[in-house]
Amino acid sequence: NVKKHFPLKSEKILTREKPVLKAVDGISLAVHPGETLGLVGESGCGKSTAGRLALKLLEPTDGEIWFKGNNITSYSGEQLRKLRKEMQIIFQDPYASLNPRKTIEQTLMEPMKIFGTPKNIRKQKVDYLLDVVGLSSYHKRRYPHEFSGGQRQRIGIARALALEPELVICDEPVSALDVSIQAQVINLMEDLQAEFNLTYVFIAHDLSVVHHISDRVAVMYLGKIVELGEANELYSNPKHPYTQALLSAVPETNPHHEKERIILNGDLPSPANPPVGCKFHTRCPFAEEICRLQEPELKPVSENGQMAACHFAKEVIVEKQLS
Ligand code: SF4
Ligand code: MG
Repeated sequence: NVKKHFPLKSEKILTREKPVLKAVDGISLAVHPGETLGLVGESGCGKSTAGRLALKLLEPTDGEIWFKGNNITSYSGEQLRKLRKEMQIIFQDPYASLNPRKTIEQTLMEPMKIFGTPKNIRKQKVDYLLDVVGLSSYHKRRYPHEFSGGQRQRIGIARALALEPELVICDEPVSALDVSIQAQVINLMEDLQAEFNLTYVFIAHDLSVVHHISDRVAVMYLGKIVELGEANELYSNPKHPYTQALLSAVPETNPHHEKERIILNGDLPSPANPPVGCKFHTRCPFAEEICRLQEPELKPVSENGQMAACHFAKEVIVEKQLS
């Protein structure tokens, strides 16, 4: 039940409560060892904030973060520093996240230096890391600007792996890359996951990107999880109207299979002033009176554990079973 509310300047909003931006507004998610959990939603839905909370790069406003059986919510200083070895992050923009004044070798050595890896081992490891991400160690004295976007993301991945983490939060790792390069980087990430037993949280705004790599997918909307399920189930049988709308916008690869595009009403409301009741009701084509009054809980909607937060998700299933 993790929350992250950012305080806002109060002048503009006339309210007695302190105005806050509810970036993450009470989510509960478990990530299992070795799996890839896809986390999707429009920009501003809180998915990056959720990823940073999991790593304790941000302090939660409320709720708890657990890692490998330990409640790490109040960890700080040395306790947190030790955890950094086990949990890492890959950022969206590999250029912005690499120091332009450091060579690739220096960049990759840095985390190992901080954790006291001996110098000769660090040097060997740089060559090894570059090799596993498909780059030649011949280039290690070069600077980030000398590499292409895809190569820079490979360097970002190598850096994340330098300390042999167990959990890697991948925050839109391919969103800034050309489509032709995206598949290469995703394939590399899958290979590395198998080789190093990694657990991924793979954040993306594009549902089609996470389908391939994810075991399970969580869909976020305005700081909440609206649907969660096994990836193939969720893609073939989405239960929440928002997931249905997102999937209807994914281009169909089979030309004989026409699908109806669900167009959402209006824009994404501000997380500083989210709608009451179901947060999706202002855009939902199926909204009814109860949706404006009562917030639906995330609950099981099928035998296989798929969950959705919609007052009518169950009815959708019943209708499908009858027909
Ligand atoms: Fe739409 Fe109502 Fe379901 Fe929300 S609860 S997704 S508004 S039908
Ligand atoms: Mg983001």
